[in-house]
Amino acid sequence: MVVRVAVNGFGTIGKRVADAVAKQPDMKLVGVAKTRPSFEARAAVERGYPLFVAGDGKLGDFGAASLPVAGTLAEMLEITDVVVDASPEKIGRENAKLYEAAKVRAVFQGGEKPDVAEVSFSALANYGAAKGRHRVRVVSCNTTGLARAAAVLLPHFGIAAWEATLIRRAADPDDPKRGPLNGILPTFKLPSHHGPDLRTIFPDLTIATTAVVVPTTLMHVHVNHVRFQRPPKDTNTLLEAFRASPRFRIFEEWEHVDGTPQVMEFARDRGHGRPDMMENVLWTNGVRVDGAEAYFFQAIHQESIVVPENIDAIRAMFELAPDGPSSIAITDKTLGIGTR
Ligand code: NAD
Repeated sequence: MVVRVAVNGFGTIGKRVADAVAKQPDMKLVGVAKTRPSFEARAAVERGYPLFVAGDGKLGDFGAASLPVAGTLAEMLEITDVVVDASPEKIGRENAKLYEAAKVRAVFQGGEKPDVAEVSFSALANYGAAKGRHRVRVVSCNTTGLARAAAVLLPHFGIAAWEATLIRRAADPDDPKRGPLNGILPTFKLPSHHGPDLRTIFPDLTIATTAVVVPTTLMHVHVNHVRFQRPPKDTNTLLEAFRASPRFRIFEEWEHVDGTPQVMEFARDRGHGRPDMMENVLWTNGVRVDGAEAYFFQAIHQESIVVPENIDAIRAMFELAPDGPSSIAITDKTLGIGTR
């Protein structure tokens, strides 16, 4: 079975998901929808993706830009089995009404509240919960990073308590408007929303999260302090648990990756086309077990970490793979995740 997939909202997340869908053997990208002409709309056309007009967009504006349009969002929905909504935060909830009216299944992003969907999703954590569903929400970039780590730590060691401080990038690299340019902004929601969001996947998890925003565009970094129920023997045992999981990239001390600039240089060197880092990034010298507790840093590439999760969500909804590991294996192979 080949599932017909459309992407509504072709920005940071949407364009990456569209490219990823186009690489799947069991999915067909039927189109992408944009509200107005832009360099990204032009790129969609140049990639051969049928371009549809969404929201308050006007067909005439695309005509004036000489961008061929295949139709309206409503017409795109007529030829699709599932739409990935990658429109800006809170717009997805509005769009949900259109998807429901068109009787099309939908995958939403973490900018929407959890109740936009039947289930919040992260592939390593709860693949099975999305099986056969009609509306699934892929949690945000930071929550995805935490959910993957929880999916490794919980079965191996149990978690008695977890504190995570999220050092958040100020803006995506293409965004000239957001800041701060110079400053560190505490998030005055205490605890931050990330812990409660993670509990939409792991309801019984004891986790407290706080966040600060810093002037960088490259990645987020999480500073984690965990107390275990069944502590690992030593640091190496904990590292081995992370190493054994898909979707983690662990840098050795001798690689001299001091921080996010070199992580993203690695991603550029890796040469997958777009320089993305879809794995959780850990450092061997950034993981330390201390008695029943552990510390670990992880870096999260906000622009791309949720991309494989969107693919696995679709595969789960249409039961295209028997289980999570089988879907993850296909996704990771097609997207080059876990290579070098
Ligand atoms: P973005 O602003 O880069 O892209 C959104 C796109 O949707 C733009 O091209 C915009 O023109 C278009 N759009 C605007 N109104 C629309 C409408 N009514 N219908 C369809 N398209 C419309 O945003 P993004 O960063 O890709 O975020 C999309 C979603 O993904 C949000 O829910 C966000 O919270 C979530 N998310 C973002 C990141 C990130 O770091 N960028 C990470 C994880 C999840």
